[in-house]
Amino acid sequence: HAKQQGRNNIQQFRENLLDASRERLVIESGLRAALNHDRLSLRYQPQFNTASGELEGMEALLRWKDPELGQVSPGQFIPIAEESHLILDLGNFVLNESCRQLAEWIAAGHTPPTLAINVSLRQLMQDGFAEQVLDTLAYYHLPPKLLEIELTETMLMHDPQHAQHVLEVLTSAGVGVAIDDFGTGYSSLSYLKRLSVTRIKIDQSFVKDLEHGGGDEAIVRAILGLAQNLKMAVTAEGVETEAQLSFLKSAGCDSCQGYYYAPPLVPDGFEALLQGNHPTQTSYFSAPETIQ
Ligand code: C2E
Ligand code: MG
Ligand code: MG
Ligand code: MG
Repeated sequence: HAKQQGRNNIQQFRENLLDASRERLVIESGLRAALNHDRLSLRYQPQFNTASGELEGMEALLRWKDPELGQVSPGQFIPIAEESHLILDLGNFVLNESCRQLAEWIAAGHTPPTLAINVSLRQLMQDGFAEQVLDTLAYYHLPPKLLEIELTETMLMHDPQHAQHVLEVLTSAGVGVAIDDFGTGYSSLSYLKRLSVTRIKIDQSFVKDLEHGGGDEAIVRAILGLAQNLKMAVTAEGVETEAQLSFLKSAGCDSCQGYYYAPPLVPDGFEALLQGNHPTQTSYFSAPETIQ
């Protein structure tokens, strides 16, 4: 019986492997088609000043809608794209499209706040990455301070010297640098001090349990203290409730991002915010991001 069980497990294992490699192939070819057929788009999630409630920034988040697979989440396709050069093509799309959108809003008479884009390790390591970012900003006549790049701790620690060189070029031009998902990766505090980082984003896993009076309050306070010492701004991610917001407010967190305020919005939805139409929280929710 055990023998039979063992063979079934092996068979199951092989099937799963096959499923995983088939899934990867489907996603890779789907993404290539998406790049060629304009099936990629960006959503813009606003960030608000915790104390004043003013609109202070936004994060561009990639969306892919495939005719056969439907909406595929970045949590599914980014890790697969990161295994190949596909991530560079996606990264180029995100950089160009977000700068184009900023320029379009400015041309329409709006004053958009800083826009953050997520960057992957292969992009950061690619020769001429900082120059590419600055060239794209110049092409769209955008002041560099309108852009921020989000990196993870683990990415920065991969090759701290190279990372610091890239960050130095970007920050001295005025581009912001944020550490995304802070607290979940591996990083060394002594390196952190030496890196040109302007913002820390507290990972949503720490924000999640804030209202329960657990240890996460101590972690969040520790991150805020560290950031203050290093003269970095702090944004909390995944803020969903009033209780989380009021803790973050009393603890002195600079800005907040999350469903409590708004999901990632389609460009028209974000433009309504820029026009000063501050819809109520409920109307943010009734304007789901799936609207094309
Ligand atoms: P991230 O950069 O940490 O993005 C935050 C994620 O949290 C987003 O998921 C966002 O939709 C979600 N989120 C926002 N507010 C809330 C909230 O209140 N509660 C909860 N539970 N979640 C919230 P999304 O858009 O599915 O993106 C997932 C991840 O995929 C991102 O994590 C980022 O690592 C990656 N990603 C997304 N767009 C890009 C991109 O353009 N380039 C790269 N390299 N990675 C991207
Ligand atoms: Mg991010
Ligand atoms: Mg994050
Ligand atoms: Mg994340």
